[in-house]
Amino acid sequence: MLISKKGCNFEAVNQQDYMLRRVITPQEVAIAKKDLGECRNVVIVCHTSPDGDAIGSSLALYEYLKRKGKQVTVIVPNYFPDFLHWMKDAELIVRFDRQKTASYTALKMADLICCLDFNDMRRIDDLGVALTHIRCKRLLIDHHLDPDCKQFAHIISHPELSSTSELLFRLFDAMGETKNLTFAAAEDLYAGMATDTGFFSFNSNDPDIFVIISELLRKGIDKDKINRNIQNNFSADRLKFIGYVLYEKLQVFPDLHASLFAIRKEELAQFHYMKGDMEGVVNMPLQIKKHKLSIALREDTERPLIRVSTRSVDDFPCNELCEQFFNGGGHKNAAGGTLECSMDGAIELTMKALEAWRDRLADPPQPTSIENDQN
Ligand code: 5GP
Ligand code: MN
Repeated sequence: MLISKKGCNFEAVNQQDYMLRRVITPQEVAIAKKDLGECRNVVIVCHTSPDGDAIGSSLALYEYLKRKGKQVTVIVPNYFPDFLHWMKDAELIVRFDRQKTASYTALKMADLICCLDFNDMRRIDDLGVALTHIRCKRLLIDHHLDPDCKQFAHIISHPELSSTSELLFRLFDAMGETKNLTFAAAEDLYAGMATDTGFFSFNSNDPDIFVIISELLRKGIDKDKINRNIQNNFSADRLKFIGYVLYEKLQVFPDLHASLFAIRKEELAQFHYMKGDMEGVVNMPLQIKKHKLSIALREDTERPLIRVSTRSVDDFPCNELCEQFFNGGGHKNAAGGTLECSMDGAIELTMKALEAWRDRLADPPQPTSIENDQN
């Protein structure tokens, strides 16, 4: 009998005693079994500035395919934050922006490219250009709206799911493969699910999510430690930066239940900004009572661009706002985009966007009651 570090009985786990709602179709199971079964040399790619879900789902699939004896390489377009480096084999991830030889060596050998956690090659910048020049089957596994069907040979897309990591667990489950999920893959999937739902504080009312988490716990993961690895892994400068943003930079528009902060490059330098330091800061204004929308603008440190990040609650669709004003998109409650203009121009455009969405942000006018006036 195998006993994990946490004293969990793996044999009991292998006898499946849980049920998930059927989300993955039989056709999708067939696609996954064929593509993942027949391939020998696999490249896994995920979106630019990978987050916990992108890295978590990529490394979980890596683990699974490695165990099946495949040659596998994970290639990411650029830097991913320090707080994800604890994941097993994270050090083997190839960065396309820095490791062109290793990237092209893997890509030339590949007979399958798995595209995780993005829906359009334009979301992976130069890596997307490189992929379109390589004749190799592309399989998309993703949870973003409206994937571009022309770009992929096969698509397993479920925008209704909280994360690509959740989707991947469901796919393994539907393939009858959860028994082959290793401890490391379970950690990766938990990290992806946790980060894409703000540690289960949004987009996570589906009871199945917690069934999956309980299965991952049965694999022996220490979720408290993973949460700490991700959340309590920043520099003192980041904490001071957050203080600065909230005290000096946050503009609140109480009538719109919305807010904006805009950070220039010099300000980032002042706090020795490292990529990842902005993680979660855009969520903070949503702590204001009745707040509906938070918008963050940040000058990119590498290119002359403004990065836009938005978060909302309930029905307010930040993805529509980002499509309309910020050349972007995303999910209903978490979306982003980019602007090629000055920061002043970006702020001006944001004010226009807020005005354009005033009806959805402001409270409906209260009927004035004559009785009340008289009292
Ligand atoms: P973040 O604010 O964390 O950078 O991005 C939140 C979400 O918005 C991402 O998960 C992604 O779905 C979406 N997103 C961010 N930037 C862009 C963009 O430039 N284009 C599109 N289509 N989606 C984006
Ligand atoms: Mn995701």
